[in-house]
Amino acid sequence: MTIKVAINGFGTIGKRVADAVDAQTDMEIVGVTKTGPSFGCDLAVKKGFPLYCTFDDSSKISAFADAGYSCSGGLSDLLSVADVVVDCSPGKLGAENLEKYKRAGIKYIFQGGEKHALTGQSYTSSANHSDNIGVDGTRVVSCNTTGLSRTLVPLFDYCGSLKVECTMIRRAADPGDSKKGPINAIAPVLKVPSHHGPDVMTVKPEIEINSLAVAVPTTIMHVHAIVADLPSGHGLSTESIIQMWKETPRVIVMNGVNNRITTTAEVMEMARDIGRKWGDLHEIFVWEDGISLQGDRLYYFQAIHQESDVIPENVDCIRALMGTEEDWKASVAKTDAAISSYYGL
Ligand code: NAD
Repeated sequence: MTIKVAINGFGTIGKRVADAVDAQTDMEIVGVTKTGPSFGCDLAVKKGFPLYCTFDDSSKISAFADAGYSCSGGLSDLLSVADVVVDCSPGKLGAENLEKYKRAGIKYIFQGGEKHALTGQSYTSSANHSDNIGVDGTRVVSCNTTGLSRTLVPLFDYCGSLKVECTMIRRAADPGDSKKGPINAIAPVLKVPSHHGPDVMTVKPEIEINSLAVAVPTTIMHVHAIVADLPSGHGLSTESIIQMWKETPRVIVMNGVNNRITTTAEVMEMARDIGRKWGDLHEIFVWEDGISLQGDRLYYFQAIHQESDVIPENVDCIRALMGTEEDWKASVAKTDAAISSYYGL
């Protein structure tokens, strides 16, 4: 069975999820939506993805033809030929779109800009793939929550309990976004604790976690400064934690000083050097020399490529909803191998 996937919203996340789905042998893109004719349509045309209008109004659909694009119809037409829709619309449009997906009777995946309450389910590959098997719909959590989940879940699984405080140093805007800031300030999130850390508990409720957040004038990555208290008698050392994360899927552990990768600028340069499309880094980057276990308290830094760490998770999530792969590690291996061979990496 080939899973038919619709992408509603072909922006930063949508275009990347479409590519990652297209790379898989067990799923295909049946269409992507754009709100109107624009440069982004060319990308869909080039990839051979059928183009649909975000809306069903005939005047909005015909605007595509007027601009020289072949449009296959409105959102309802797309939903009628899909098994599952990945909603990549801007955050907070979820409630409106959810009704449309329910009416179409297909499965749906939202992104981290929506609240957990929208679906009552959230997802990361390593934390709760099995809880999402066969459900009607879920939410792939944000880039930050995905990043925290990647390194904290294996630690929790080993220790059996974990108390975490973290500070999220967030990029101000995505590189293609000209509207947001700050451009010359550090902006603390004054709602404390911030929502980022506690959001991990939507996929792994057993981890006790809180966070503070600040936005800084950079566009390329987020950095997390994390302090985790392990239970006494955990039996871990700095070295064994490094080894654990080296064996964890979608985590890269590298010595910053030895490799001369001491900032997010060099991490992103590495992603471009190794040939990742758009310069993406699906993995969470952990500085080996920034990890230190002192007694029961663990300190570490990690960097998150906000535009791409959630992309392979969406692919695994499709398999969970469709019930075609129950083992999260098998899905992750399949997703990542297909993406690597698609790009010849
Ligand atoms: P984006 O603005 O880059 O893309 C959204 C796309 O949806 C645009 O092409 C827009 O034209 C289109 N759109 C507008 N109205 C729509 C509607 N009613 N229905 C469908 N599509 C519509 O946004 P993004 O960064 O791709 O974010 C999408 C979702 O992913 C959000 O929930 C966001 O919070 C989440 N997310 C974003 C990032 C990131 O760093 N960009 C990371 C993780 C998760």
